[in-house]
Amino acid sequence: MQADRQEIAITTSFEGLGLAAELVRAVADQGYTEPTPIQLQAIPVVLAGRDLLAAAQTGTGKTAGFVLPMLQRLGASGANHHAVRALILVPTRELAAQVQESVRTYGAHQHLRSTVIFGGVGINPQIAELRRGVDIVVATPGRLLDHVQQKTIDLSKVEILVLDEADRMLDMGFIPDIRRILALLPRQRQNLLFSATFPDEIRKLAAGFMHDPATVEVARRNTPAELVAQVAHPVDAARKRELLAHLVKTNDWRQVLVFTRTKHGANRLAEQLERDGIEADAIHGNKSQNARTRALKRFKDNELRVLVATDVAARGIDIPGITHVINFDAPRQAEDYVHRIGRTGRAGRTGIALTLLSHREKHLVRDIERYTGAPLRVAVIPGHEPAARFASSAPRRRYRS
Ligand code: AMP
Repeated sequence: MQADRQEIAITTSFEGLGLAAELVRAVADQGYTEPTPIQLQAIPVVLAGRDLLAAAQTGTGKTAGFVLPMLQRLGASGANHHAVRALILVPTRELAAQVQESVRTYGAHQHLRSTVIFGGVGINPQIAELRRGVDIVVATPGRLLDHVQQKTIDLSKVEILVLDEADRMLDMGFIPDIRRILALLPRQRQNLLFSATFPDEIRKLAAGFMHDPATVEVARRNTPAELVAQVAHPVDAARKRELLAHLVKTNDWRQVLVFTRTKHGANRLAEQLERDGIEADAIHGNKSQNARTRALKRFKDNELRVLVATDVAARGIDIPGITHVINFDAPRQAEDYVHRIGRTGRAGRTGIALTLLSHREKHLVRDIERYTGAPLRVAVIPGHEPAARFASSAPRRRYRS
């Protein structure tokens, strides 16, 4: 590790990290000139064939941190019979689609084939793709196991395994599935694990299957992106929608991701915003995969100004243009707060995270502050002051504007 570190200190280009010309070109096509900190640390380790345990949140550039060196290793050994040689496991469908998009983008000048496997859509097109032969599979665990059961995928040639957002997999109850999948892989392989946090279950899982992993860490645990300005607006619960519409309209915000606690709440809010003349749609677990993909695309293409999402639906969403994340309902857990606001302020851009705080939610401020270790600025919006009862019972320090 010491030698790696010394080299890292003097290397600031993708070439300098040892990446092949076709990968450097693919990165340059994206307009990226400098590796991010996680890329600086992870790429040499993965190229060297070592196992890697990485503490990194979305927004740090971690996907390229594992995809680029993985492509190089697969490309270099050059066997072209298209067996599944790399398996990337992710918690959600959206993240699976995004990661495969990165595999395609960075692999544009190579001849490796990849496919994506997730539930909620027909299995037959996936079977057809697998039959054609692929080198890289990006998958969510449940549907991958369906393929295993139907014997439509062969995992006996996997050389590189990636577990992305391992802590989210844990939250979503995927660890037993992961263990089942691990048992199907060849013993001799490279393992990469990425996680924003490392609860005991993840440490235990990692200790069980990784071999002498290098560890890298880019953001302090539980720290929200530094480039995100965080503010809470106290407001009466019944006036939240009105305040949201007011903020979006008067400030002319264009790409706003709004979080609600429930699927029903997400639908209702999107409909009400539409009625207020703001283009909006909702994504959540009750919507079909196609409807979710369509809404995400419209949002990315600037046809929607507001996308309303539940926590699960929004996990791993990577939309570089998001300028504002709004907690319409305060998150139930402080940890969700960090994940939510991580949707903005990505890879060096600045972002704003607002929390609309009703009287009943005000205790959550303290949880969030305790979790992130940073104070949340509190500001009342003129014309939307909460009822007196709210202000008088609130701790004074937090509610000055
Ligand atoms: P990730 O953490 O992998 O979700 O990546 C976050 C965002 O950073 C994505 O939109 C990437 O396309 C972008 N990105 C990745 N690497 C770089 C880089 N070296 N320079 C600038 N942006 C990057």
